Amino acid sequence: MAAGALRTGTETSSVEPSAGLLRLLTDLIGFQSVSAVSNLPVIDYIAAYLAQHGIDSRRIPNAAGDKASLLATIGPADRPGLALSAHTDVVPVEGQDWSSPPFTATIRDGRLYGRGSSDMKGFLATVLAAVPDFVRHATARPVHLCFSYDEEIGCAGAPDLVAATATLPVPPALCLVGEPSSLKVARAHKGKFANRLVITGKGGHSALPHRAANAVAAAAKIVVGLEAIGASLTAITDAAFEPPYTTVHVGSLRGGGALNLVPDRAVLEYEVRTIPGADAAGIRARIDALVAEVRAGLKAQAAEADITVEPISAYPGLDTPAGLPAAAKLARLTDCNEAPITLAYGTEAGLYDEAGIATLVCGPGDIARAHKADEWIGLDELASAERLMRRLALTLSDAPTDPLF
Ligand SMILES: [Zn+2]
Repeated sequence: MAAGALRTGTETSSVEPSAGLLRLLTDLIGFQSVSAVSNLPVIDYIAAYLAQHGIDSRRIPNAAGDKASLLATIGPADRPGLALSAHTDVVPVEGQDWSSPPFTATIRDGRLYGRGSSDMKGFLATVLAAVPDFVRHATARPVHLCFSYDEEIGCAGAPDLVAATATLPVPPALCLVGEPSSLKVARAHKGKFANRLVITGKGGHSALPHRAANAVAAAAKIVVGLEAIGASLTAITDAAFEPPYTTVHVGSLRGGGALNLVPDRAVLEYEVRTIPGADAAGIRARIDALVAEVRAGLKAQAAEADITVEPISAYPGLDTPAGLPAAAKLARLTDCNEAPITLAYGTEAGLYDEAGIATLVCGPGDIARAHKADEWIGLDELASAERLMRRLALTLSDAPTDPLF
């Protein structure tokens, strides 16, 4: 990182995060908020913390009432401000060989280990630690805190939160999603949709396949068709991504139990990752037509045969213009004056972008450490993120030296 101009004379150049930030992050990691369980304990914790600082927050619950997003505004709500977005859920630790308990923050050798340290409770704790700064400085522009659930299972919780944010009396001028980007500013990522196809055929003896309907053979036709659709999409490219085109990927195919039986069931999972500007609806329609054709063939063999489609996840791509002035300003605030990058992974940022809010991704930690055993975040990375939050708070003050928007 290049050295940048300091924004204020009150800053320290510490490479250590504050004790308050470490306490918050330790508490957050202690909540085993994997996507499979309720996130309400961690939401209760955050709401209580905000209340201690005089901040009201609003819950946006799921239909079952066992999970919720949290939305809070600090500062004047009658003008455009800055939204800070984080998810409260983490991925499971089952089957992973951790050196220390995953839900206990453990510091060794300048690193803080724990599930979610990079993805993304490190950022969440940094935002919370900065609440006193926001209360003090966000006097000219507000900051909105947007905390979601179920991000790790396909951005399932964010749509309601994004809708609530986009329909605030005055929506934010800029949203910053703090997914781990090594504190680089990212402006774009591919979109994705993933589906599970459950193929029901008709079983029978392998000597009499003409009286049955082979679910595995039908699945194979779909795989071949998906490969062909994928191959047809490589001509449209965007050099900002690797690979520079939309991809179609079959991740699993299960079916059949014994050689002497015609399989009556197969399950296939696929995903499509779209570059910005790709016609996602058109690709969906082509895949739907492929599935319909194979379904019709199966039904011709056995009336009870069918193929059902179960959505697994879907989120839009992020496609913020590289020239967005706030991107360059944010890069300066991180002390890393690089042009905005693109990401190889998806985030909730595409949903904010789709809702019409200019959105960037920038957070501490490295996505390469996420979802693995011994996930960690550097204490120096936390200190840098903490410095960024203080500088962001100052951009919302009455006389900012370099307003973000
Ligand atoms: Zn994440």
